[in-house]
Amino acid sequence: MQNIAQLHHRLFNWWHDAGRVLPWREKEMGSTAGNATLASPLSLRDRAFQSYMAMELRRDPYRVVVAEMMLQQTQVDRVLPKYLDWMAKWPQIGDLAKAELSEVLIFWQGLGYNRRARFLWLLAKEISQKNNGIWPQTEEELLELPGIGRYTARAILSFAFGQHTAVVDTNVKRVLRRVIDGKEAAEQPTYSEREWFVFADQILPPEQADPWNQLVMDLGALVCTARGPQCEKCPVKEQCAAQQKADQLGFSTYREFLLSLPKAAKNSAKPKTRFEDTDRFFRGRIMDTLRQAATTRQQLWQVMQDEYGLADQVRFETLLTKLAAEGLIQLSEEIVQLG
Ligand code: SF4
Repeated sequence: MQNIAQLHHRLFNWWHDAGRVLPWREKEMGSTAGNATLASPLSLRDRAFQSYMAMELRRDPYRVVVAEMMLQQTQVDRVLPKYLDWMAKWPQIGDLAKAELSEVLIFWQGLGYNRRARFLWLLAKEISQKNNGIWPQTEEELLELPGIGRYTARAILSFAFGQHTAVVDTNVKRVLRRVIDGKEAAEQPTYSEREWFVFADQILPPEQADPWNQLVMDLGALVCTARGPQCEKCPVKEQCAAQQKADQLGFSTYREFLLSLPKAAKNSAKPKTRFEDTDRFFRGRIMDTLRQAATTRQQLWQVMQDEYGLADQVRFETLLTKLAAEGLIQLSEEIVQLG
């Protein structure tokens, strides 16, 4: 990419008009910039984006981490109502720390991957009870906390503490690789995780890492999507290396080039497993059944056979053992209940 400053300029202009206003992006007011926006006749959207760009305004790391955990593996549309209900129920991290794990797991229904709920609960206890409500502010210290990987650690540092750190997930990799390298994220030569962070950190705009991270995510979600990038209305079409490659090969857009590629042979060769036959499906049904009430092992096994078609009792017992090892359920000789 020849001109990073121009790329920043174009994308920030686009983002102001097209970026997503999301409840977890709200910032705490109180500074002069925040008060000024409240007093002005600007639209809600303009106010929101003014606050997103104001690096002196902060977000509560608790709100950031709840949103980031929910958004791992779950679509924004499904997360939105759950996030708002969660914040109404446990508005502060100390409120969550006082909740029972079973209550949190019941609340989590519909989001899937229940371990995330337990991690949030453990995290709340650790920050509130061991750290006196103080969040660490380095990547290495954040990685010590329950359920926090590098992506979430960096999201907390950037979105809550305004640090100059890039957030890199699958969508960000796809967008950056296309724009800068003209390749798909998994194309050779591939980058290690460390190389990805170095690469993404290098193209951060000065003093604007937080809005830039949000902006790249929005570009990946709204325009430069995995299978159907909308290059014709992309704000950086003229600068995008992938689009330039498509031009040289005689395609009008990079999307057209992608569609011309043969589908991977493995898709046709490998028979697909139905979701209803996977461990993930049965784990989810066990958790849903226990959300209604604790039950005996025998009754639970009966439900799994009659309602969900699980035929293998050894598999059932293995699933129970794994859920118990993850702290999501409690097992005794007779009774099974949420953790
Ligand atoms: S021009 Fe196409 S491939 Fe390039 S960033 Fe835009 S949408 Fe993505």
